[in-house]
Amino acid sequence: MTAVAAAPVRLARRPEPLARAVAMPEEGPLVDTFGRVHTDLRISVTDRCNLRCTYCMAEVGEIFRPRDEILTFDEIERVARIAFSLGVTAVRLTGGEPLVRAGLADLVARLSALGFADLALTTNGTALARLAPALRAAGLDRVNVSCDSLRADRFARIRRRGELGRVLAAMDAAEEAGLRPVKVNVVLQRGVNDDEIVDFAEFGRATGREVRFIEFMPLDSEGSWAADAVVPSAEVIARLAAYSPLAPVWRDSTDVAPATVYQFVDGGGRIGVVATVSEPFCGTCNRLRLTADGAVRNCLFSDDELSVRDLLVGGASDDAIARVLRRAVWGKRAGHGIGEAAFVRPVRTMSMIGG
Ligand code: SAM
Ligand code: SF4
Repeated sequence: MTAVAAAPVRLARRPEPLARAVAMPEEGPLVDTFGRVHTDLRISVTDRCNLRCTYCMAEVGEIFRPRDEILTFDEIERVARIAFSLGVTAVRLTGGEPLVRAGLADLVARLSALGFADLALTTNGTALARLAPALRAAGLDRVNVSCDSLRADRFARIRRRGELGRVLAAMDAAEEAGLRPVKVNVVLQRGVNDDEIVDFAEFGRATGREVRFIEFMPLDSEGSWAADAVVPSAEVIARLAAYSPLAPVWRDSTDVAPATVYQFVDGGGRIGVVATVSEPFCGTCNRLRLTADGAVRNCLFSDDELSVRDLLVGGASDDAIARVLRRAVWGKRAGHGIGEAAFVRPVRTMSMIGG
């Protein structure tokens, strides 16, 4: 049986640099020295979380930023407005757990009013059932809900404080509220939950939700990441294809989403893989990040960051803040370099940066 119909379009691993003499543009879109145009902004609204997932946070001893160092909604809205004026079209709210930030629907309403084409949120789902109607009413388009096991005991072990039933109910509630599509994020770890790949595919087929298998990244707070704990996306696809034939969903060159998406040939739904480690898609990366404490980062894996918080607090002009966004993007490296000898884990971990 032909398991995978054809190889999907591969996103470029490394971009080609622009000519050396090019200077940072003072107008136009947010572009880096490799010509990558940045249109996707990840906003972390808090570094705090009500869970302690093993692959993300330490069970005890996490140190959070003092609340008075976290950007206010006014400050976040202002940066988002400036980013919008520079061509950002998509915003994702994340954290930490974004839904532990009080009054988040108010921020969603403010961002929605700015006119982004796509306003999404990534959540662990614990508070989503309660908040989904208000978030939708405020203008949120869709959610990704993280769920790493369909077995209650294992789910609780991985997320340490989570409860599977509550998260599954939250997915239903989100859909009922109109937050569609609900996508399900699964971080795979070898020997931890990789025996559930087919179970998740069946879950996705039964619910009509796209399950996205994410490779474990070296961003966990406990430093337990190891290359052999990563389940390469190619292996995920091969295992799923043995279960039911898959065909890649073709995309044109303007589609630079990190997940490579496949469709079951029998029409039974889609799955996505995010191959950050094994097949980096840095060549087409269009993302920049705003941390909860006001740092602009151009890559999850780079320590290079520029703070806008002092500018915001000090009453700087929009132009000055725009220039920080431009400089952050302009300084982006070709790729994250995981797997290379020179790679060093970033100081900030996933929950501090915003995944
Ligand atoms: N708290 C929310 C959640 O869990 O969905 C949003 C923030 S979380 C940092 C964003 C995403 O990053 C989640 O899907 C989570 O599973 C994923 N994540 C966290 N640590 C990771 C790691 N070390 N490698 C890969 N993905 C990770
Ligand atoms: Fe919290 Fe999300 Fe990190 Fe889990 S993955 S500890 S829910 S921020």
